[in-house]
Amino acid sequence: MKNTANAVIVGGGIIGVAVAFYLAKARFGDIVLVEKEPFLGAGATSKAAGGIRAQFATKDNVEMSMLSEKIFASFKEETGHDALFDQVGYLFLLRSDDEVRSFKESYEIWKSAGLPVDLLKPEDIPQYAPHVSLDEVQLATFCKKDGLGDPHEFLSGYEHAAREMGVEIVLEAEVKGITTSNGQITEVQTAKGNISTPMVVNCAGPHAKLIGAMVGADVRVEPIRRQIVTTGELDFVKPFFPMVVDVRSGLYCHKESKGMLLGWADKDVQPSFDVSIDPDYTDAILERALELMPQLETAEVANQWAGLYETTPDHKAIIGYEPKVKGMFHVTGFSGHGFMHAPAAGVVTAEVLTGKKPSVDISNFAPNRFTSDKLIEETNVI
Ligand SMILES: Cc1cc2nc3c(=O)[nH]c(=O)nc-3n(C[C@H](O)[C@H](O)[C@H](O)COP(=O)(O)OP(=O)(O)OC[C@H]3O[C@@H](n4cnc5c(N)ncnc54)[C@H](O)[C@@H]3O)c2cc1C
Repeated sequence: MKNTANAVIVGGGIIGVAVAFYLAKARFGDIVLVEKEPFLGAGATSKAAGGIRAQFATKDNVEMSMLSEKIFASFKEETGHDALFDQVGYLFLLRSDDEVRSFKESYEIWKSAGLPVDLLKPEDIPQYAPHVSLDEVQLATFCKKDGLGDPHEFLSGYEHAAREMGVEIVLEAEVKGITTSNGQITEVQTAKGNISTPMVVNCAGPHAKLIGAMVGADVRVEPIRRQIVTTGELDFVKPFFPMVVDVRSGLYCHKESKGMLLGWADKDVQPSFDVSIDPDYTDAILERALELMPQLETAEVANQWAGLYETTPDHKAIIGYEPKVKGMFHVTGFSGHGFMHAPAAGVVTAEVLTGKKPSVDISNFAPNRFTSDKLIEETNVI
């Protein structure tokens, strides 16, 4: 491992490898990425449902997604490596007046951003998502540019492209401490040795707060457990079946292998690093799934897992310089949408670190925004 670098990236999930790729592309200098586990993507990235969407409630998140979707769709040209972005669309089912009002407000943002979203009447929904219950559904929104991707394929593409450009990736190199001198980062201590560096990019996902704490920074990210269930083979799930989100229950589902993937965010889960499977959580997912698709009655559970969202108080990412310490930059806190925002996060990080204006206005992602009482919350979080 090099013992000196222009930047050390902490964390080898999708965010860390995307940042490594774009920093290397911008010729930032010597870059070392350190990951504590024996393989990349072992954290939240390997637990993600693979959803990629631009239908958010805030302009900056819409723009992060639109930039990311463009990159996902042309990933081979971007990195030289194949990864499939299956643009089957995202369909949000809206059953109450409040849901319709709130999504119609977002629709105005989407329209002005040039995002092609269709407003579907109940009778138009089965052609996109047959078999879903339309009980009390008033309206649905559908964006054909949204879709699904395998986080591992994209991680692997960024990893290989970054290595080809000279990034050193060191596994089993847990960061144990970070030294500063006169408020400036000078060194990172890892399980594989020390690296002298003026710059640390904190891409530690749900562990980002712990990395910040090493230099006295308060990174407002909490780890929150989320569970997923997949089913065995189902003959009624067609290849075009999109990601469907039942806004009322919070249940989301999409085709997965020959069956379906089912997920739901339990809002009562308290912050912790516990990733054991809670059977009550599983039952709550299955109950909601059956309500949405009664045909799942015959489905068998094929697999299930739990992972951690890296959640911020306003459900928006933290991207920016740490105000308390010179040389620390955070790229974290994506609150359930870090896979889909990884390309844009990598692009804007490299732009800021090389002194350029970021392609997306990231002022609402500033690490110090939480002292203000004017947080602009992302409400369309799944
Ligand atoms: C159940 C579930 C479903 C999800 N579904 C989606 C989805 O459909 N779409 C979407 O966009 N997002 C989804 N997400 C969110 C997404 O997975 C995350 O936002 C994203 O993976 C964050 O990537 P990351 O690289 O920041 O974090 P991680 O993948 O967790 O990577 C951080 C890395 O840092 C390493 N690390 C931590 N501490 C240290 C240390 N001290 N030293 C060295 N390394 C360290 C960890 O080992 C880890 O590999 C989902 C998440 C979960 C849990």
